Amino acid sequence: MGKTKHPGPTRLPLAPDPKLWVSPVPFGLGKIKPHHIRDTIKAVWDNRDNLPYAYRILTQGVCDGCALGVSGLRDRTLTGPHLCTTRLNVLRLNTMPAIKPEILHADIDELRKMDSAQLRKLGRIPYPLVRAKGERAFRRATWDEALDRIAAKIRSIDPKQLAFYLTARGITNETYYAAAKAARCIGTNNIDNASRICHSPSKSALKRSLGIGASSCSYRDWIGTDVLVFWGSVAANNQPVSTKYMYAAKRKGTKIICVNPYREPAMEGYWIPSIPESALFGTKLADDFYQVNIGGDIAFMNGAMKIWFEMEEERPGSAIDRKFVEEHTNGYEELKAFVTGLDWETIEKSSGLSRARIREFAELLARARTGVFVWSMGLTQHRFGTDNVSQVANLAMLRGFIGRAHCGVMPIRGHSGVQGAGEMGADPFSLPGGDFTPQNIERIERVWGFEIPKWQGDIVGVSLENALLPDDHERKLKVFYTSGGNFLETMPDPEFIRRCLENVDVRVHQDIVLNTSTLVDAREEVWVLPAMTRYEQPGGGTSTSTERMVYFSPEIEGPRIEEARPEWQIYCDLAARVKPERKELIQFKDAAAIRAEIAVANPHYDGIQHLSKRGDVFQWGGAWLCEDGICPTPDGRGNLLPIQIPELRKPEGHFYVTTRRGKQFNSMIYSETDPFNGADRYDLLMSKEDADALGIQDGEAVVAYNRYGVFHGRLKRADIAPGNVGVYWPEGNVLFPKGVYDSHAGIPEYNAAAVVEKAETYHALKDTRYVERRVEELETEMHG
Ligand code: SF4
Repeated sequence: MGKTKHPGPTRLPLAPDPKLWVSPVPFGLGKIKPHHIRDTIKAVWDNRDNLPYAYRILTQGVCDGCALGVSGLRDRTLTGPHLCTTRLNVLRLNTMPAIKPEILHADIDELRKMDSAQLRKLGRIPYPLVRAKGERAFRRATWDEALDRIAAKIRSIDPKQLAFYLTARGITNETYYAAAKAARCIGTNNIDNASRICHSPSKSALKRSLGIGASSCSYRDWIGTDVLVFWGSVAANNQPVSTKYMYAAKRKGTKIICVNPYREPAMEGYWIPSIPESALFGTKLADDFYQVNIGGDIAFMNGAMKIWFEMEEERPGSAIDRKFVEEHTNGYEELKAFVTGLDWETIEKSSGLSRARIREFAELLARARTGVFVWSMGLTQHRFGTDNVSQVANLAMLRGFIGRAHCGVMPIRGHSGVQGAGEMGADPFSLPGGDFTPQNIERIERVWGFEIPKWQGDIVGVSLENALLPDDHERKLKVFYTSGGNFLETMPDPEFIRRCLENVDVRVHQDIVLNTSTLVDAREEVWVLPAMTRYEQPGGGTSTSTERMVYFSPEIEGPRIEEARPEWQIYCDLAARVKPERKELIQFKDAAAIRAEIAVANPHYDGIQHLSKRGDVFQWGGAWLCEDGICPTPDGRGNLLPIQIPELRKPEGHFYVTTRRGKQFNSMIYSETDPFNGADRYDLLMSKEDADALGIQDGEAVVAYNRYGVFHGRLKRADIAPGNVGVYWPEGNVLFPKGVYDSHAGIPEYNAAAVVEKAETYHALKDTRYVERRVEELETEMHG
């Protein structure tokens, strides 16, 4: 780990720079763009019954929105205020009162008429609830009844038939840690977290390539780096304050490059509300876009490396940092032999980019002395997500962009809790402080004082699938305990997921609000347990940002939901009821006691035990992991890995389909209209050439279909790479296959090939289509 400490926040220049303006017309009048002032007023209005508390949360708490990370209104990157509309949108979750009893106990079908946005607005879950099979409404229960009955059910099954899942909705490290410990205390390793559907490939790839499981650098490294590449990431939309860091970077001469099938309007230009010149005239962010095919990133990166190897042949040292490679990496010759053996036709076809364009990118990076690579779900949500990320690590190592100022690899995360989830051990492949290896198991057994089950736990997707196994199967899922999460609206093939949820004997939803998954039947009982928000938890809590800053969020004075409990306490209480003989080993006196134990269980987190008041923060691992090129791998070297170009099966007449986010925070939708392009959530984005070729006009009804499902929407022309189309997530999830995962990281595949037709043509031919199509054609459709 690094010895250099983060230098703390820096200042923005005061004088404006008109070269960066999007338009001299103030406030982007006439352009499609977010309305920050209007959104802020709406947030004030939504929280009008609790404004002082809302204000205290914003000024004292650690943001429970994305994982950029901010304590109060201050971050560690720039001086000046840090606030965005994503945070303002989620604020209401923390300030709203409980659901009214007459609504909460209404007939379940009345609740089922609502979508998740409407359910969320009903208010907080006030007390424990239960609904047995055949019952038409939730019944109020006591905490004792709830935990005793859940514990009794758990005791009656094999621990392999029990699975836990924790989302990242404001969940603190303390809760992840307690859940990880409670699950193992109860006897199961089936515990997983929200990174399984976002960044698990980042961790598996960075581990095998560099020996690290987190961003190697800090946001400060963006500011002044020569090249900042965003790969399948729309940070401007998903981590809005990152635009401020991008602005600061541009003011220092940084070039911003986006690699993405869609020319994302938010990355092209952004009106940053807290920077006066940007609020008025906007800021051009991306200097260039490389519009790769969906799934074409590996080919693109292999192409860039092929150019580098050619440049090196002509002039050694012109493209590759030989010193770094020789001193700090393994596998150079194998990688070179593999990449130089690839042919350009395959690279161009898979990437969708010409050799000339790939050369431009390769030369830009070759000239750069420093570079930071940032990525998101455009790289990770593939069945080859781990390979995608290892390719990024290959590029970074070949250029020596690791372990020094203005250099690094950064999986930018979308949920405030998610970085800490795996680091606390709420993951089937991890324990606190390391992987699920014999050495780490033994070490943690000494810390915890009880034996940890040795079998490999399942990822959440497999646990859910296991609900459909025969009753007598050792891994048939019988109790599913989920803290937050809405699987119907996050996983591919929602109807299949519904069947899985229904086939569990007992489901427990520990949450602050209801969502559509909470309302699905179970074979015996559905329990709903009211959780506290992070701001309500006595003793406060911590969360870890993308750049490994561990922020302390204090308990904030304000109204309380009477029966809501701190989540860590619920897990410990449950474990003590399932295993009374281990009660002493699983109870914590308070949140500080958990932090004290985390510091021992995960040595990187040594320092967390000292966080106790508002504003307390430390960065684990220092400013740069792999500092000076020394990687925490067994031999201290990074591993260059040859990565095969994946086979992308796209039969004639099909398009690659992927998903994008609009005005939403993960699966929570805040507007039916995307503020950056004006699209509706059921719009299908298609290039002008493709739309013209199909003779479909803007706004016409279209159907996208494949053997997994059918999506009904409207066509919207967009600047997206031809042959590719975009749909919104999760609405488009019907088009993706169930049960297809990245083999290293277990992330589901969120891409597919599909036919797109005018709705009228589709309906006219619907009845005959599948009879007429050849079976082989259906079989060869791309699995994502
Ligand atoms: S950018 Fe992320 S961390 Fe910052 S205020 Fe917005 S949601 Fe919170």
